[in-house]
Amino acid sequence: MLTDNLRADRQTFVTHLECSLTGERYEADRLHGLSAVGRPLLVRYDLTGMRRALSRDELSARATDLWRWRELLPVRGTANIVSLGEIETPLIPIPKSGGGKVLVKDEGRLPTGSFKARGLVMAVTMARELGVTKIAMPTNGNAGAALAAYASRAGIETVVFCPDDTPEINVREIAAQGARVYRVNGLIDECGAIVGQGAAEGLWFDFSTLKEPYRIEGKKTMGLELAAQLGWRLPQAIFYPTGGGTGLIGMWKAFAELEALGWIGPERPKMFAVQASGCAPIVRAFEAGEEHAVRWEDAQTVAAGIRVPKAVGDFLILRAVRESGGRAVAVGDPAILQAVADCAEKDGLLLCPEGGATLAAYRSALAAGWIEEEDEAVLFNCATGLKYPMPDRSRTLDRNALPDLAAM
Ligand SMILES: *Cc1c(COP(=O)(O)O)cnc(C)c1O
Repeated sequence: MLTDNLRADRQTFVTHLECSLTGERYEADRLHGLSAVGRPLLVRYDLTGMRRALSRDELSARATDLWRWRELLPVRGTANIVSLGEIETPLIPIPKSGGGKVLVKDEGRLPTGSFKARGLVMAVTMARELGVTKIAMPTNGNAGAALAAYASRAGIETVVFCPDDTPEINVREIAAQGARVYRVNGLIDECGAIVGQGAAEGLWFDFSTLKEPYRIEGKKTMGLELAAQLGWRLPQAIFYPTGGGTGLIGMWKAFAELEALGWIGPERPKMFAVQASGCAPIVRAFEAGEEHAVRWEDAQTVAAGIRVPKAVGDFLILRAVRESGGRAVAVGDPAILQAVADCAEKDGLLLCPEGGATLAAYRSALAAGWIEEEDEAVLFNCATGLKYPMPDRSRTLDRNALPDLAAM
């Protein structure tokens, strides 16, 4: 699916990178991990130059895939782009299980069935551009699958470490798409420590969330896309299932860039960082008024994608949530599973558990008066529900002894 957006004459306006904590400047077009103080690096662009070079109307006239945002993405060489068809994802109303003003941004339509494709297509493309030959990554499942797919396509070797109770389908899809995958008797941050050790020994490049600068640039396209889809405005509330928080941080960055371009105004949605009550370090820090989050011990939840006990970008998540007037919200597994069941049964949309968590959190926010029923809310369903186990509610039938068909 090569659209016009992959034309070689499209230029990036990237200028440099910057430490998200200290503002220290780093050169673009070099391989970077974390900043000198161990914090994420953010990519910066010449937005004044871009404003002169490209109008909102010109952008609107392009095909709607992820690569329409080329000027606001870090890639220089078009030939380095490894695409599997990163389409714009739809906004789907769920009037019965959510309400009249609720839209689900269904990220399950992306390659490898999750929004991890947005981040990894960018990070792998940049790794290829910067000459990386071997990558390692800790994952709860979907990130590993997206890495495996894009890296195999780019001819880059990958080693992936996941907790040993990672959903079976994720472990298998990672291997099927060409990565070496190890099940580890530990959580994602403990898998991350193994990756860090190998990286320190020079064995591979560390692709952990926010430990390289480009996944966030891929994930920010959710925010860019949302603004364009809504006719260059934003909803009143966004509910984002938060593990490492890459997408929430990325969207917050996207909104600032769009405002600097003059493409949207200063209004922002309330950002709700949604976590599971069995692993809610960001919620605990939010409620305590802390700037950083302490590691969550004995993390447990059905929503594997948000089982992240410790996030390096914790302060960036908390800042965005607070600046927006939103909140960090925890929901229990029963409420998550109920939300998944309701949405599938009543609105015909099968959410992943993490998506179910956003619907459960929306319901809590409404009940608590943090938002109103008239507020337009966007929930992020970050993976296809088909990747997750479903309760068996089928019945059996003997074709030789059919019961009363009218009663079926
Ligand atoms: C990774 C993942 C998340 C969390 O995303 P972050 O940006 O890392 O917070 C949520 N849902 C699903 C399905 C995921 O795979």
